[in-house]
Order: sequence, then structure tokens, then C-alpha cells
Amino acid sequence: MLYGGFLAEKADLQAMRLVIKGTVQGVGFRPFVYACAIRLGISGSVGNSSEGVVIEATGTADALTAFSTALSTEAPPLAKITSIEHSPLPAVLSDTAFRIIASSDSAAASASIPADIALCHDCHNELLNPEDRRFHYPFINCTNCGPRFSIVETIPYDRQKTSMRIFPLCADCLAEYNDPLNRRFHAQPNACGNCGPQVSLHAPDGSVIESTNAIQDAADLLQQGKVLAMRGLGGFHLCVDAFSETAVDTLRQRKHRPDKPLAVMVPDLKTARLLARIDQEEEALLLAPEHPIILLPKLEQGGLAANLAPGIDEIGLMLAYTPLHVLLFEAARCPRCLVMTSGNPSGAPICTSNQDALEGLASIADCFLFHNREIVIRVDDSVVRVAKNHRQILRRARGYVPNPLPVPWDLPTIIGCGAGLKNTVAIGRAHEVVCSQHIGDLTDLETFRFYEESVEHLQRLLQAQPLIAACDLHPDYLSTRYAIESGLPLYRIQHHHAHAAAVMAEHQLTEPVLAVILDGTGYGTDGTIWGGEILLADLCSFTRLGHLSTLPMPGGDAATYEPWRMALAALFAIGGLDRLNALPAALKQIPEHRRSVIATMLTQSINTPRTSSCGRLFDAVAALLGVRQIISYEGQAAIELESLAKSCTTSTWYHDIPQATEPLIASLLIEKQENVEISSPLLIKVLLDECSRGVSRARIALRFHCLLIGAISALIDRLSATTGLQQIVLSGGCMHNRLLLEGLEYALLTTGKKVFTGETIPVNDGGISVGQTIIGGLLHVSRNTHAGCPG
Ligand code: ZN
Ligand code: ZN
Ligand code: FE
Repeated sequence: MLYGGFLAEKADLQAMRLVIKGTVQGVGFRPFVYACAIRLGISGSVGNSSEGVVIEATGTADALTAFSTALSTEAPPLAKITSIEHSPLPAVLSDTAFRIIASSDSAAASASIPADIALCHDCHNELLNPEDRRFHYPFINCTNCGPRFSIVETIPYDRQKTSMRIFPLCADCLAEYNDPLNRRFHAQPNACGNCGPQVSLHAPDGSVIESTNAIQDAADLLQQGKVLAMRGLGGFHLCVDAFSETAVDTLRQRKHRPDKPLAVMVPDLKTARLLARIDQEEEALLLAPEHPIILLPKLEQGGLAANLAPGIDEIGLMLAYTPLHVLLFEAARCPRCLVMTSGNPSGAPICTSNQDALEGLASIADCFLFHNREIVIRVDDSVVRVAKNHRQILRRARGYVPNPLPVPWDLPTIIGCGAGLKNTVAIGRAHEVVCSQHIGDLTDLETFRFYEESVEHLQRLLQAQPLIAACDLHPDYLSTRYAIESGLPLYRIQHHHAHAAAVMAEHQLTEPVLAVILDGTGYGTDGTIWGGEILLADLCSFTRLGHLSTLPMPGGDAATYEPWRMALAALFAIGGLDRLNALPAALKQIPEHRRSVIATMLTQSINTPRTSSCGRLFDAVAALLGVRQIISYEGQAAIELESLAKSCTTSTWYHDIPQATEPLIASLLIEKQENVEISSPLLIKVLLDECSRGVSRARIALRFHCLLIGAISALIDRLSATTGLQQIVLSGGCMHNRLLLEGLEYALLTTGKKVFTGETIPVNDGGISVGQTIIGGLLHVSRNTHAGCPG
């Protein structure tokens, strides 16, 4: 009887093999599988292989179904499963246990390394629980949270390959690390006060400030208005009391950063609500595992120092994301909101080592809060915002990198070397593109060194050796030179085509699109500087169907920093020298001798490269309206012009743009032999006429946005009719302008178009490397196979 019963039971058992792909390493995935298997009475094993996580499972049909469902529906918070493949196995019954198989070195190459993740709920509770053995330990973490990308040297992701290598686990931590049912099973940075990293407080000369509680002392210094340099997760922050105008001013002066907005950190959502207006989606983003900086509408009654973001109605805000931040806010007398800005000497990348910080920040910080967990690669805070229908990542770094972007095309292993400013690099291979963290402006040697480090780090983590490279057309970008010097077969990609392709990749668009790229500047194929472009683009080529008409840029790049030069250029374009003699009041504050130099340059066409840049058009309008004549950070004039325009918008401000601009469209759109131009001089002339009729500056600022939106959407309508294309891509740095994005999208959607823009990949130059990777990779494939471009 017994024997027969066993046979019947045995006959009920089935076995299957599951292969799970995605981000499933270092996120507590194998212990999760183990716990599911134990709960459902399943035997077998789980391990990592080059294919991903491989499970061999034996159990009843019901149990296996439940197991398979649990794997996808209950996966740990940080796991990102891209696929689960099932295949039957001959039943293996010899073993009734379930085992976790150790990973071998070569095994995990294709499984991706997770990003750095904010302190989780469980660890937060333990951190503040006096009974817990990690009470107030600033480096508490578990498989659901803590540092990853920033401490990994190479793969497989294992403590010995991270900067935690120098901290041997104590007996208690080791027991957790080895227990499959513990939240810290194989948590590589696992540590406690007995065995892990520690903090210390230092004077600017490096000497230790003796202290029984370094964090409390740091909080007291902040309360006194001092500047603290604090080593964090991906680099140093400079911190001051965000309610103190004096403290903020001290920081600004010492950092030589007069106006650029400073991000702030608060301990919790409750505090955030006192300082900014936060909707549901923004709340979810603030609390998400990535904990990025979110750009939020500032509440005037919040009491933040007025000089945090002068001239701007938004504030960049994030919640405390490491246990060290939480403890700082827990300390008595700590200000409830702290400026947390990048700890870098002007222009250079953020400091990561204690020594670099002492050298680079000695003239800025009054004291230093150090720790001894080395940062292998620097990662800035990410910056995100929620526009009407889209989440936009403005700076993609901590929390998002190195998450891959899946693409539907089979790419050769290729490196996209990126743009010159806001640079990132990207590596494409097979069906994914991995974009690096924000690297910065490649204008100095130190940032370029960071660029090289990032390329090497990314290649190591991906075990990828690029066979080809793609870069910008601009010959002087350091990224272009890097690409040339790599000696790899090279594809040079036009800047705005790359902007379009990045959006196409993100949304997996294979068919041609009409792309509206409103940008700062990018090298054109005709030797002029482009930046207000309407392209018919596919993944391998493009045609320039329209653009903003060009304006001279007096002094070339210098015009980027001095918008008043663009204002004079626009006036000159409208009415020549006569017009320069009848200046709007706002421009008369520019010294006469400086104006006359520019007038000479314009009349004689000396050093006045022409540009169709949308950013420069914004600059011209901002200067003409007296918003800003000289900038101290990129995009300042445009951002302030947008803020001014926003001050007179309603929630439905964009509804009547088509009617309101219709009478002017015929004259704004000029048919040329090759394509259509949107007349920037005429657009500005309309604004100046309104100015002289006494219309308010804010209304004119808004009118400018409306005219631009009206002209572009009317042009797209025409082009859509002639080409039959309905898919519209919106990208370029100017798409960070909320009014432009909202208005354009509304106008296009109401005429039946499908609109796509960058959400997980920046629409600014941070997305260029991704576009280059896609175009370069597909061009290479189509040339080598003599097949056409996909689509
Ligand atoms: Zn945790
Ligand atoms: Zn320990
Ligand atoms: Fe660009």
C-alpha cells in the first residue's frame, strides 16, 4: 500500500527548467526563489549562468504553476525581470531539498549589475530602533537597498570585487550573509558597527576633530551656518542650512556659483510638502528606490532661502537616501532642509576620495564628514521632473545607471562617445544599450579623465569590448577625439539625428518619424550650427525638412554666455543697422562701446557663424525683454524666460494657440528651395511690436512660446500631410521647457498625431550617446549585410 502510494505521488511530480533574465543579480533574487520553493514544497536548485538565473524545479503540477506565478508577481523590489523561459525536464527526484548554487566567475556576465538604491523601509526601521544591533549605524543596508554600481570594480558582483573587500564580515554579519532566509543573504555591502565602515569629522587641514558623535557635531556646525563637505554614496556633497540666506550666500561665493539653482534634501515627505507643491506622481517618484532630485514648484511660504534658485519658480528637492543622511537629520538641532550640491571645485567632477575633497574643497568647506568606504566610480544625484504627460530625466545617474535600455534591434558591440556638454557614453550590444552616468561638460582635463574612467568601468561591468565607435560630427568635442584615437571603425552621427534616434530607441520606433529637435547647438551637415530642426528621420538617415531661420552669433560661442549679443543679432536681422540704433530699453544698459563692437561684427560679417539654434532664439528674446543679458550657467536666460511666461498661464493656456497664431502662420513659414524655414526675425518683430504697444513682459514671454508652438505644429501638419507620417518625436534640450513640451504635444495630439519624447533617456545632450549607438550600430549592420536599415 505504502509503496503504491509513493508511486502514485511520484507519478504526480513534474520537473521544469526556468531561465530568468533581467536585473536579477545582487537584488536578493536567489534567496527569494529559495523562499518560494521552500514554501511551495519544491525541490531542486537555483544558480546564475551566462543566460541569467537558472532554476531547476521539481514538484506537483499545481505547485509548479504557483511557483512560476510567484516568481513573476512577488519578485523583490529591485529585481527587473525581462523574461522567464520555461522548458520541461525529465523529473529529478533523488534530491528533496532546494539549494542555492554558488556563482562561478564566468557565469554572470550577461546578468546586469543593479544601480545604487536608497535606504529601504526595513533598514530605516532598524536604523532608528535602539534594540537593533545596527541602531544608528550609518552604513546599514540589505539586499533591497544600499550601494551597488558605485562600489563595484568588476563582475561577478561579489564582495571581493567591491570596495567592501577590506572589511571582513564579523560573525554576526557572516551568519546573515550565509542564511538564505535572511534579508542580508549575499548582500555584498553587508556590515555593522563592529566590522564595517565608519565616519569621522575633519578640519580643512585634514586633522581629525575629536568627537564622541561626529554626525551630531556636523549637524551643530550646519545649524551655525557653516559649510560642510560630506562624503556620500557616489561622491561628496557640499551642505548648508537651506533656510539661511547667509549660509547659502557663503557657499555661492566660495563655490563661484552666483545663480545656478542649488538642490536641497529633506528628511521626509512631510517636510517636503511644506516647501514644494507635490502631486501624486511626484510623491511616488520622491519615494521610489532611486530617490532622485525632483524639480517641484516652490512654495513661497516654505521659508527657503530666496537665493537657492533666483528667478526660478521651481526647486530641486530629494529625500534623504542613505542612512548617513537620515542620521544627520535625526541629530538634534539639524536644519530640516539642507542644500546638497555637488562637492566639486568649479567645473571639475565631484570629489570621491577624502584626499581629493581636502585638496579640492579646502577653500569652500569649513569641515569635512568623511567615511572609509571607497567610491569606485562617481555617480551624481539624478534629476527628474514630471511634465504634463511625461516623466523626464534631466540628469541620469544614481539609481538609474547601469540599467539597460532594451531595444528591438540586434546591435554589434559599439560605443557611442557622446556629446561635448552634459556628456554620457553608451555601450550597445545585442538587444540592449547601457548608458553611463552623467559625466559632465568635457571642457577640462579632470572631467575628461572621469570620462575615460567611466568608459573603462562600464566596459568591465559589461565585459564588453566595442568593435566600432560612433561620435558627433563636431571635430573639437573631446569625445570625438577620443573616438578617433580609439582606432575603431568610426561612424560620425549628426547631433540632432542622434537626439531623434535616442527617442526612437526608447519607444522602439522602427518606422520613419518626423522629429522636432529644439536644442542649443549642434554641428550641421552644411557647416552651420543647427539647433531648431524638423527632420524626417529613420534609424540610419535623415532629411532636414525644416528649421528655424538662422541668426548670426556675434563672437561665436561667446554669444552663448551673453544673450544680449543674440538680441542685437536679431534686431540686425530685422532691420539692419537702423534697427540697432533704436534699441529697446533693456539693451541700453550694455555699455555703448561693447554694443558698437558687435554692430561692426554684424555689419561686416566678422566672426558671426550662423545658427538655427532654438536656445539662441530664446536667449535673444530673454535679452530683448530685459530678463537676462549675461548668464552664469547654461540655459539660464531660457529658464528665466519660461518662469516669467508661466507667471501668466492658466491650466488650459495652450488650448487656443492654433487660433491665436493662425493669422501669422502664413508669413512665419517661408518655403525655400530645399525646405521650410520658420522666420525667427519675423517672430521677434511681432513681439517687439507688442512691446511697443505696452503689453506686459510676462504676456510677451508667453506669446513667444505660443508663436513658436503655433508655427512648428502648423509646419508639422503640412509635412505630415505630404509624407504621410503621423509619428512625431520631440527632443533636444529646449524640450525641458514645460510650456514648449505641453503646448506642442497638445497641438499635435489634437490633430491626430502620435507624440513621443525622451522619458528614461534625457532629451538634452545626455541622450546623444544612446542615439549615436543606435544609428552607428545599425549603419554598420546594414553596410556589412548590404541589407537596408530596419523599418
Ligand atoms: Zn535595506
Ligand atoms: Zn558586522
Ligand atoms: Fe543637443
